[in-house]
Amino acid sequence: MRVAEENTGIGRKTVRVFFAIWPNDTAQKQLAGLARQLRLESLCGGRKTKAENTHLTLVFVGEVDTGKLAALCRIADDVQASGARAFDFVVDEIRYWKHNNIVYASTGKVPRELINLVTALQNALSAAGFSLERRAYRPHITLARDASCKTLPELTEPIAWRVREWVLVKSEQASGGSVYIPIGRWPLA
Ligand code: ATP
Ligand code: MG
Repeated sequence: MRVAEENTGIGRKTVRVFFAIWPNDTAQKQLAGLARQLRLESLCGGRKTKAENTHLTLVFVGEVDTGKLAALCRIADDVQASGARAFDFVVDEIRYWKHNNIVYASTGKVPRELINLVTALQNALSAAGFSLERRAYRPHITLARDASCKTLPELTEPIAWRVREWVLVKSEQASGGSVYIPIGRWPLA
């Protein structure tokens, strides 16, 4: 008797995925330049985020069977069709989380459209049976990990860009750290 492979788990592949916003080229350079500009290394130590890895997570989905990727793309299609809107994201704060030793950039003016997008994705994912952590959403762009800050620098000039799309990203562990590979893109109206 032959047992269907999908029922045994043999050969089943999973991927680690999350929905996110990537800064445009100018904002990416500006954000990556903050570590040096603000002397984060001497103030906080730690490992700074590579420029190409700089992002704002919308929803972390986690480890899923590759067979679920099509469902994730359909969910994003539905959220887009429901009228998700473009918005400006203005980075105007540098913060530190002591519990996980992360230095991050954030905003004092969280756009309503960002909250609407995150909420729509969370609701659609939950309705489709994806289990998500329901921690309050805190928009943050990780600048450095394994950091330990006694004082934090002030950001003198905000970094802003128009957010015109969001992405579904695969996260792979490599020897040099996480590698993010975009696997879908959805424009914002
Ligand atoms: P690394 O784990 O190598 O330090 P990373 O945390 O950026 O890098 P992932 O763990 O794949 O890579 O996470 C991808 C994104 O999802 C990151 O922005 C991360 O902060 C966020 N994330 C990871 N785990 C969770 C979680 N349990 N809840 C919410 N967001 C998460
Ligand atoms: Mg992680």
